[in-house]
Amino acid sequence: MVSGDSGPLATALAQFHAAADRLGLDDDLRQILASCKRELVVHFPVRMDDGSIRVFTGYRVQHNLARGPGKGGIRYHPAVDLDEVKALAMWMTWKAAAMGIPYGGAKGGVRVDPKSLSLGELERLTRRYATELAPIVGPQEDIPAPDMGTDAQVMAWIMDTVSMHQGYTVLGVVTGKPPAVGGTAGRVEATGRGITYILEEAVAWCGLPRDGLTVAVQGFGNVGSMVAILLSQRGYQVVAVSDSSGGVYDGTGLNIKALVELKQKGAPLSQASGDHISNQELLELPVDILIPAALEGQITSQNASRVQARLIIEGANGPTTPEADCILKENGVTVVPDILANAGGLVVSYFEWVQDLQSFFWDEEEVNERLSHIMRRAFREITSLAERGRMTLREAAMVLAVSRVAEAVRLRGLYP
Ligand code: NAD
Repeated sequence: MVSGDSGPLATALAQFHAAADRLGLDDDLRQILASCKRELVVHFPVRMDDGSIRVFTGYRVQHNLARGPGKGGIRYHPAVDLDEVKALAMWMTWKAAAMGIPYGGAKGGVRVDPKSLSLGELERLTRRYATELAPIVGPQEDIPAPDMGTDAQVMAWIMDTVSMHQGYTVLGVVTGKPPAVGGTAGRVEATGRGITYILEEAVAWCGLPRDGLTVAVQGFGNVGSMVAILLSQRGYQVVAVSDSSGGVYDGTGLNIKALVELKQKGAPLSQASGDHISNQELLELPVDILIPAALEGQITSQNASRVQARLIIEGANGPTTPEADCILKENGVTVVPDILANAGGLVVSYFEWVQDLQSFFWDEEEVNERLSHIMRRAFREITSLAERGRMTLREAAMVLAVSRVAEAVRLRGLYP
């Protein structure tokens, strides 16, 4: 994060208060919605392969549960801290509300570089962290999912750990599991697939020509690589991608399949052939569409004026600071906000949970059809609100989301 711009929590709060102002929310509701309901911080020991013990710090935050159980990913990253997890939990509340999915918002994380652990260490860390979370997670309370640094295997360990404590299999405690243990068809691709649906809608809404559009994607993990694959299959020219080691650029379009194969062998993109660029340079390339799909706080007051893309689709959570938002708005850049653009993972997680609870599983075609329906419906609702209220898409998405959560809080009333 560059100095002068808001960090993730300040960004999330600024976005909330802007929506609250537009809605004329009273101070009581503002206080409730600006606070996180529950914040768990745990310090737990894990035995490492060499016999030593390391103490790790983990978090789980539930922001607001008025609309349903908590939902949100678990991040394993060395920079995770409580404020970041609170911001991510808050965005989950708004995302579920904007999409019309009956969940509250939550998020978790462990301060660790997962790449520095052996598979055995990763499993022991995950099982101990899951045990620490056990009092507050469950199919009716709070349902974690993958986020940066975690994957389907980590979710399988969490499900198994909670199940061992219960004495029977609890499929619905976590989503993003492998299909062999209660996962759904289409979950791995869901966030990337949802982004492509939203991108198609946004291209039409902005009046961009459909053919020959160029795209740059920052981040080449679950979200970034999947979106790059799907877009290149659909005829978009993906000209730049990056990971934490840096990026590659080819103005005529990259061979995404070859890059995925390179990553599958464990090599960073810095070892790919092509023109090498930094992550910062990627954001400023002369492309039509920019998809940040890595960390928050990437497009800031320092670089927003140099963004040349006409359309930004936020694959990551919180990649644009409020300061950058103002500059992009002035420059006529359309930003499709995270709580709409990357909600495909949440939506298909919801499908997975529903299938687990019913022990009745759908095929991938059904998953994708329902995903498309929900994503496109949310896009229409948000764009029509934006048009009517002369708002940006983020402003409209936040107004819609906050109004839905505020209504739920109001209707439920105050206990006791
Ligand atoms: P991931 O761990 O699979 O991949 C992250 C990617 O970002 C990797 O390629 C990594 O090398 C790269 N990266 C890390 N630090 C970077 C940096 N400083 N600059 C550039 N690239 C960097 O994570 P993911 O699941 O793809 O999540 C990416 C983003 O998408 C996060 O903001 C996450 O919250 C958001 N998101 C994920 C999902 C999901 O279903 N996985 C859903 C919604 C939103």
